[in-house]
Amino acid sequence: MTDEQRPTTTTDAGVPATSDEHSLTVGPDGPILLQDHYLIQKMAQFNRERVPERVVHAKGGGAHGFFEVTEDVTQYTKADFLSQVGKKTPVFLRFSTVAGELGSADTVRDPRGFAIKLYTEQGNYDIVGNNTPVFFVKDPSKFQDFIHSQKRMPETNLRSNDAQWDFWTLSPESAHQVTILMSDRGTPRTWRHQHGFSSHTFMWVNQAGERFWVKYHFKTVQGIENFTDAEAKAVVAEDPDFHIRDLFDSIAKGDAPEWRLEMQIMPFEEAADYRFNPFDLTKVWPHGDYPGITIGRLVLDRNPENYFAEVEQAAFEPANMVPGIGPSPDKMLLGRLFSYPDTHRHRIGTNYTQLPINAPKSPVHTYNKDGAMRYHHNGAQPVYAPNSHGGPVADPSLGEAAWFQEGGEIVRSAYTPRRDDDDFSQPGALYRDVMSETDRGHLVENIVGHLSDGVADETLERALQYWTNVDSDLGARVRAGLTSGNGTTSSAARAATSSAAS
Ligand code: NDP
Repeated sequence: MTDEQRPTTTTDAGVPATSDEHSLTVGPDGPILLQDHYLIQKMAQFNRERVPERVVHAKGGGAHGFFEVTEDVTQYTKADFLSQVGKKTPVFLRFSTVAGELGSADTVRDPRGFAIKLYTEQGNYDIVGNNTPVFFVKDPSKFQDFIHSQKRMPETNLRSNDAQWDFWTLSPESAHQVTILMSDRGTPRTWRHQHGFSSHTFMWVNQAGERFWVKYHFKTVQGIENFTDAEAKAVVAEDPDFHIRDLFDSIAKGDAPEWRLEMQIMPFEEAADYRFNPFDLTKVWPHGDYPGITIGRLVLDRNPENYFAEVEQAAFEPANMVPGIGPSPDKMLLGRLFSYPDTHRHRIGTNYTQLPINAPKSPVHTYNKDGAMRYHHNGAQPVYAPNSHGGPVADPSLGEAAWFQEGGEIVRSAYTPRRDDDDFSQPGALYRDVMSETDRGHLVENIVGHLSDGVADETLERALQYWTNVDSDLGARVRAGLTSGNGTTSSAARAATSSAAS
């Protein structure tokens, strides 16, 4: 661009500015004038550049792309975006860490958020998942306490390993997620080399009204790759923005990351008698019972143009579900249906759904109105329903994706116990049957390392019991590692095995 072609700077009202560098003063050396509206606008806008960071999942990155259906699933759902093999839907996906603040490092040990917004022709469908298939707790009442235990303590403003283990060991339902977190999958090499899971169970409903329970597994086509604990910590020092940079650079050079969507599908009636509660978010559905069925692919092929507008202001909400898809009785999911839009109203503002990144690409016809920064409006349309003036009308024939719940006493209670409902079998199976010996060695080292940093003796004893409950060999190895002052593998052996880690 030549100098003649460059546009003239303006105020935010579009009025041409007369200087990019000098404020308006009485003589070159005199005081600044209040009438320098352009200067005051620059200072005032600068002071308001930040919105509050997310209370969780503050640090992240994202990209645009598409989801494509590769298998006919109309026997399971009438969702329009899944109605045809080959149908493509635009998506935006945001990855994140959970506990750290906006400036924190990408490669720390933490679950990773995997939040997808599908801009379908029937409105936005958000799947707000993680890179792990399970979660730490199963009742939304414990979520706030869990997060408090992971974030900074009131007195020191430091994170506390003791608080983390205190909460985990007093909440045995966390064992499955903590096993994955403490394994090398807690430090993924890049966002491209990890899976994404809905974690929650959802309901699919087909045209005939038949219902199914489903879980979404987005499996990385790039393959799983993780850092060892030492590698992840080294990258924290070298490049705290490693994951953001990796995703941006990959897409910029045309290397578009891809995930294969595998669904687990459970016939509606089987949930009632399944051997554990299938809606319990701390458990997976074993593949032997419900094998994954590949139905589509997700590709990220376009970087954001403006991080703040597209990534920071992105607002995902699990309550955004399209016809043919509904919630399950997973208590965590039901809590999140309220919690997400509530935090967006606080963080971004009442009309956050009107921002381009959040706005559906399908028409909006709503009786909601007004509020701060309302941009799109309904003109002279009636503001109440029912009305006799041609306002929009709801379509009951779309049908609600809902389940029948037998009435009962109003209680505060855990899920009704079932036969295989314990907290330790699944992490035990992961340790014994799924992990390689290298994975197990690294898991022990990572646990020992974490427990060796400021954890009180009483908490430590509980932690040893916790890992013994997962697997007696694991408990013994953690105890031995703590006693000898390090993990079970020498650093040389660790370096030798790190590249083989899955
Ligand atoms: P399967 O052997 O059929 O599945 C095991 C799953 O674990 C695979 O999806 C595998 O896929 C994943 N996996 C492999 N290595 C690791 C690792 N180091 N850390 C975490 N996940 C890993 O057995 P089941 O379905 O019966 O499940 C057995 C245990 O596997 C479960 O108790 C659970 O802990 C774990 N698991 C199960 C999943 C499920 O949905 N059934 C999903 C993820 C884990 P991949 O290597 O591609 O990730």
